[in-house]
Amino acid sequence: MAGSQLQEHGELAATGIPRTLTAVIDGWWSPGAGGQVHEVADPSSGEIIGQFEESSDEIVDAAVRSGQEAWQGDWARISPADRGRILLRCADAFRTNASALARLESLDTGKPLSQARADVDVTARYLEYYAGACDKVAGQTLSQPLGTFAYTVREPYGVVAHITPWNAPLSQMMRGVAPSLAAGNAVVVKPSEITPLTTALAAVLMTEAGLPPGLCNVVLGPGGVGESLVRHELVQHIAFTGSVATGRLVGRAAADRIVGCNLELGGKSPTIVCADADLSRAAAAGALAVVRNSGQSCFATTRLLVDRAVHETFVELVAERLSGLRLGPGLDDPDLGPLVSEQQRQRVLGLVEDARADGARVVTGGTDGDLSSGWFVAPTLLADVTQDMPIARTEVFGPVQSVLAFDDLDEAVRIANDTSYGLSAGVFTADLGRAHRLAAALQAGQVQINRYTGAGVEVPFGGYKQSGIGREKGMDALLHYSQVKSVIVDLH
Ligand code: NAD
Repeated sequence: MAGSQLQEHGELAATGIPRTLTAVIDGWWSPGAGGQVHEVADPSSGEIIGQFEESSDEIVDAAVRSGQEAWQGDWARISPADRGRILLRCADAFRTNASALARLESLDTGKPLSQARADVDVTARYLEYYAGACDKVAGQTLSQPLGTFAYTVREPYGVVAHITPWNAPLSQMMRGVAPSLAAGNAVVVKPSEITPLTTALAAVLMTEAGLPPGLCNVVLGPGGVGESLVRHELVQHIAFTGSVATGRLVGRAAADRIVGCNLELGGKSPTIVCADADLSRAAAAGALAVVRNSGQSCFATTRLLVDRAVHETFVELVAERLSGLRLGPGLDDPDLGPLVSEQQRQRVLGLVEDARADGARVVTGGTDGDLSSGWFVAPTLLADVTQDMPIARTEVFGPVQSVLAFDDLDEAVRIANDTSYGLSAGVFTADLGRAHRLAAALQAGQVQINRYTGAGVEVPFGGYKQSGIGREKGMDALLHYSQVKSVIVDLH
């Protein structure tokens, strides 16, 4: 029955999760307004697990106005140190409710339970990290002629809109919301219509933990709701995570309104594997890109560029790791869960078929995973991929890995940089000097050497080229969510 799973797995906010989720305004579920109701499915079975009401323009307006009141009122009056204490209490609430949140995240996205649990931990970590930053948002005193004094302060924008994708709803939400709140803003979040459940619950959970009402509101619905949010006259900054195509639309809306925006977009991240590398470590990293969240990860390394001298050995090592993996429903904590939707499954299988027709060799996988229900794709390894094939440049966002051979490092760098993306990149080699020379040559916002996995919340992350504008994570993110005011005083 629609909603029953949501009640069961979302028991954390026991104080009344509505059967049909509504926007969260002033820190709580808003009354139903008769908007269109959308269903949310479990990707492991297609079963309906919840439903939500699409937020109308009036609801979006109410959410933004509630945020406007909250940041100018309560949030501005609370000292930065106390704001930090509140964010720490929110972090504790996520840790205390981690099991229930992880179950719901797993059910909604299809990701294996242990990966969902790791996402909840990261969500709490963002709050802890930026809680410590609240009282460190500071300006400078500036060198001036005698008799003149000048200083800068960093001030919040006001209401910041956060629009998130479906692959890691909770952690993507908090990656932007935590620094936004730490810098003194209020936020209105619009999660993906495919996976909205945990984001709405998270906002209520934060109110219960002591965040003043209105500082974190959530509106629900497809792209049109996001558009209405970013075009709202009181939204003063936009943080968008999603595809390049939508990022372009959001960027245009920001330009029309002359407000700032940071864009965290897609990737087709290369890893260069040199002949002297620890091949088994590099193969593990290549396999992880497929396994983690079934490849639905923006920074996953999905182009393995391998020295031709070790190419065949390397392909065998990756294939070994990918065959025999267990697929299943996220809640059973398999190696791989399903993709988020049937549409995504069809898209991924279509891209694999095209690659096969273009001459790529399907070493393993390439099928729908042989399960009786759910949107599964078997972990897939494509060898003999060449740079002229669309699979070498298109973001797949599924469990598909491509291996390309190179003859020398100049060619490796040329292939690595030859896409419109520049989110992340990797290098595996035993030669440290070569590793750093390659890191310098790669056009990417993040380069990992002799490892390729998620970096901590302390490490800035964001794209070169069409992978985006701006940086999330680390102290750099705080700079996006505050603006500088200079004050100049005549002391005479
Ligand atoms: P998407 O662009 O389709 O949607 C993202 C969000 O934008 C959703 O909430 C959607 O409803 C909303 N949206 C759609 N049209 C809009 C409009 N006109 N105005 C405002 N909002 C609108 O992306 P997706 O399919 O949900 O996510 C997958 C993409 O996200 C991939 O390309 C992936 O690489 C990218 N991604 C990037 C990062 C990163 O940090 N760089 C992280 C995760 C995912």
